[in-house]
Amino acid sequence: MKQKKIIVIGSSNTDMVVKTSNFPKPGETVLGGEFLMNPGGKGANQAVAAARLGANVSFVGRVGNDLFGKEAVAHLQEEGIDVTHIEYDAKLSSGIALITVDQKAENTIVVASGANNALHVDDYSKLDALIDADAIVLMQLEIPLETVRQMAQYAKSRGALVVLNPAPAAELAADILQFVDIITPNEHEISTLTQTEVTDAETAGKAASLLAAKGPAIVLVTMGSKGVLLFQENNQHAFAAEKIVAVDTTAAGDVFNGAFVAFLSKGYSLHQAIALANHAAGISVTRNGAQSSAPFLHELSIDF
Ligand code: ADP
Repeated sequence: MKQKKIIVIGSSNTDMVVKTSNFPKPGETVLGGEFLMNPGGKGANQAVAAARLGANVSFVGRVGNDLFGKEAVAHLQEEGIDVTHIEYDAKLSSGIALITVDQKAENTIVVASGANNALHVDDYSKLDALIDADAIVLMQLEIPLETVRQMAQYAKSRGALVVLNPAPAAELAADILQFVDIITPNEHEISTLTQTEVTDAETAGKAASLLAAKGPAIVLVTMGSKGVLLFQENNQHAFAAEKIVAVDTTAAGDVFNGAFVAFLSKGYSLHQAIALANHAAGISVTRNGAQSSAPFLHELSIDF
């Protein structure tokens, strides 16, 4: 079977992390410790996770015409991702996240979305060769909602499979959800989407049925160490999480989403793709970092 193409339409940021013994109070300066600069953004993280598993990935995004944008694009390219559909914004800066982490591993994060906030498509004909019935389109919510809506509608009209990871949490109108085939919220996100409180498989199942009624035929609720709940055609199926010692859960959801579409693109069944994504995300939480924690194909045990 021919491998499908994956098109991630989303954000790319540069995470700038400073370790500190104490967070500064307003007006205060503290001398911090180590400084780290890492590529991030949910879109870029998910694209990298998919590419490391051998998927054919194109990234559609927007960066500033600055050093951070050039670095971010070069990094995606090094991961084997097609970057020809990334645009450079002449005025806005690239997306930046300023992160401080204290000794207890608590963090503060301020994101300047910059060019991510201006991602839009003027000329859809440029995407016609990319987005067709052989494509899986994966989006998140770190770009304008109107772009997500237009792209979902366009991708659906082209016969592509539309997967939406509704993160960070937001309420979504039916005019977006009607074009989504598969939606992948975590517990917090599905609580926001359905205005219900989701804390376990039972409440997740109820919320998933409410969400499915608004459009997506398949709802996958990721539940951290409780695994994943699949809701489809009024049936639900639970996938237990890997039994591992969690070290850093940053980007677990991103690795799950990237891996899920990667395995779908390779022709694995829905259940197999979920099980393998659960496995890949489980590996990622045993390691530090966001993109750096995403596993490569040879690290997974695939027995089907
Ligand atoms: P997010 O990162 O969006 O908050 P989750 O916390 O739901 O997403 O994690 C996504 C997936 O990562 C889970 O469904 C599971 O497959 C895996 N995962 C996360 N935390 C753990 C954990 N402590 N043990 C095993 N797997 C985990």
